Amino acid sequence: MDCIYTAKLLVSSDAPPVEGGALLVHAGRIAATGTCHQVRRNYPGVEVVDFGDALLVPLLINAHTHLELTDFPQWAIDAEEEAPPRDFVDWMLRLIRIKKNLQEDRYRISLQHGIDQSVAAGTGAVGDILAHHAVRSLYQDSPLLGSLFLETLGQDPAVICRLNDRLYEALEGETVGSVELGISPHSPYTISQDYLRRLYSRCQSDKLPCTTHLAESPEEVEFVERSQGALARRFYSYIGWENFVPQPSGLRPVEYLHQQGGLFPGNLLVHGVHLNDAEIDLLAEKQMRLALCPRSNARLNVGKAPAGKLHQAGVKLTLGTDSLASCDSLSIWDEMAFAHHWFDAQLDAPTLFHMATRGGAESLGIAKDLGALEAGRAAGFQVLRPKTTVAVSEVFDYLVTSHCTDDIAQIYHFGQPQL
Ligand SMILES: [Zn+2]
Repeated sequence: MDCIYTAKLLVSSDAPPVEGGALLVHAGRIAATGTCHQVRRNYPGVEVVDFGDALLVPLLINAHTHLELTDFPQWAIDAEEEAPPRDFVDWMLRLIRIKKNLQEDRYRISLQHGIDQSVAAGTGAVGDILAHHAVRSLYQDSPLLGSLFLETLGQDPAVICRLNDRLYEALEGETVGSVELGISPHSPYTISQDYLRRLYSRCQSDKLPCTTHLAESPEEVEFVERSQGALARRFYSYIGWENFVPQPSGLRPVEYLHQQGGLFPGNLLVHGVHLNDAEIDLLAEKQMRLALCPRSNARLNVGKAPAGKLHQAGVKLTLGTDSLASCDSLSIWDEMAFAHHWFDAQLDAPTLFHMATRGGAESLGIAKDLGALEAGRAAGFQVLRPKTTVAVSEVFDYLVTSHCTDDIAQIYHFGQPQL
């Protein structure tokens, strides 16, 4: 049944807020927007739900996360490994130690928690990385849109052969709910050059969604360029890859990825902390999209992405929470608030809100459904009841600084209330 939803302010992405704004929802999609007066006049007789002093805002996009790790904080407690990691490699080793004793069922439960927490935080779509491909069936009953990137990595050719077969079996299997299956070659320091090239080539020829962690830590830069440092010494030896340390490439991560065919617009890059000006220009020239994960970068003490330069150069930015192994919540509201503070006004409030909405939806190829409250898109929106009175001129500042998860009074996916 058609319905008009109205509230004090309707806030879309990249547009001034509409006072007394309204949405007409028909068959799960937005059929019209405007002031309540306009929409009622054009569609007389349609039921009106008036949320009074509330704000109507789009569902948010978490462009990079690992929802199967949502229970990680509890796993760390169970394993008595709660102390903060000393550095990036220490964190990776701890992740591997804790994960290796878990049965598949734990990932299934953890992923369900991640989906539930994401929906409750007003997230409408995710770019979710899944290392345990079998638990993907949980997405069948989830309202989330986006991409489910099946993770793969490896250096040993014999092992890669098996992994590759299993990966393509999974990709050709059943569809899972509303998410599109894709591939996540983990990073330039965990995949052989040959396998990385093949994956990128396949993603482009088959038009598969793709995402890659890139230039996250100083250790990665040192390893990719010189095959040395803590990743070579501690990580490669811990996982038994001593014999697979590659020859030094002499290249920084972005240039290395470029050589392997990884700079194509369908490859959503993640982190981009360690980038020089020439690399930023190259990413812009190649029309790359980059998901920033500032809370994760701060927690792992790997550095700060040059967000202002990236934005000015034209690299299309979005936001991700990363996993609860390196972050405190799966809320993009929290990520925006942290980013606002962490990047210290390099990105203004409307830009951050764009990154969390339209920019995120474009990065996951779902802009026809989510990213803005505009006619034609899915009726995916949140009803916020702010703790204080919000002036129209300050609404974007309020949204990006106020950790609005607690303001959420109702959430709609395709016109269906979720709470
Ligand atoms: Zn990640």
